[in-house]
Amino acid sequence: MEDIIKIENLVFKYRTDDGNEEETAVDDVSLTIKRGSFTAIIGRNGSGKSTLAKNINALLLPSGGAVYVNGYNTADESKLWEIRQTAGMVFQNPDNQLVSSIVEDDVAFGPENLGLEPGEIRKRVDESLYAVNMYEERKKAPHLLSGGQKQRIAIAGVVAMRPECIIFDEPTAMLDPHGRQEVMEIIEKLNREGITIILITHFMDEAARADRVIIMDRGKVMMDGTPAEVFSRQDEVRAMNLDVPFVVELAGRLRKRGIPIPESIINEEEMVDYLCQYK
Ligand code: ADP
Ligand code: MG
Repeated sequence: MEDIIKIENLVFKYRTDDGNEEETAVDDVSLTIKRGSFTAIIGRNGSGKSTLAKNINALLLPSGGAVYVNGYNTADESKLWEIRQTAGMVFQNPDNQLVSSIVEDDVAFGPENLGLEPGEIRKRVDESLYAVNMYEERKKAPHLLSGGQKQRIAIAGVVAMRPECIIFDEPTAMLDPHGRQEVMEIIEKLNREGITIILITHFMDEAARADRVIIMDRGKVMMDGTPAEVFSRQDEVRAMNLDVPFVVELAGRLRKRGIPIPESIINEEEMVDYLCQYK
């Protein structure tokens, strides 16, 4: 099965406390996610990104349409465990995701709940801590760590469940630039190791590091393509109140001055390579 996630005409409406439906948060979205891919989802606040993400790991169930994870319909309660196991989630605030007073206990929390043997738990905790470059800090208290370190512990907790896919919902929003960079490096490393990544972000330079960018607006998918395809449509992107990555903006300005920067260039390395060979 090449597609790990299949979303068919998904509609999601929140309900008020008295049971009335609110406005539509996700409005007729259909898309598939390829196994092993790295997809970024961007869109202004309230565009439905988090609601879409929660529908993927069955934290929310569709009001209309269907979501399949590894072929399992998220509405099938008997498969809830497999679905959550396949598609793990990392949220914005690391403090809300850490539960223990020692780093390694925190990472062990998920595997313990799976009822695994102590030896297997130990193995997974160590592996996961290595995966996020936090093994040295395993005996520390999470509250003494930096934001980027805490978020990496939260990621280790999800990695310890051996998910095939991880959905990150603005994982760097509360971090300083150094913490953001640490977390992005881990996300890219996990992807290289074969984990399917869905990254919701409001940082355009992070989105540019994915192999696919989806733009949502008012609950709908407005654009879907490679970062170069999506960000080269600068005017349309800006019309949805989004920025373009710095390099795309710079390329546009250089083009106006007569330097023919190709539209495929979206990151600093590519820009440097191009300019150094430009005569
Ligand atoms: P995003 O993650 O893109 O900022 P959300 O998925 O959080 O967007 O929100 C989409 C829409 O659903 C918004 O209009 C938001 O106000 C509404 N919404 C989000 N969460 C809830 C909730 N728990 N109850 C009611 N409405 C909600
Ligand atoms: Mg959100």
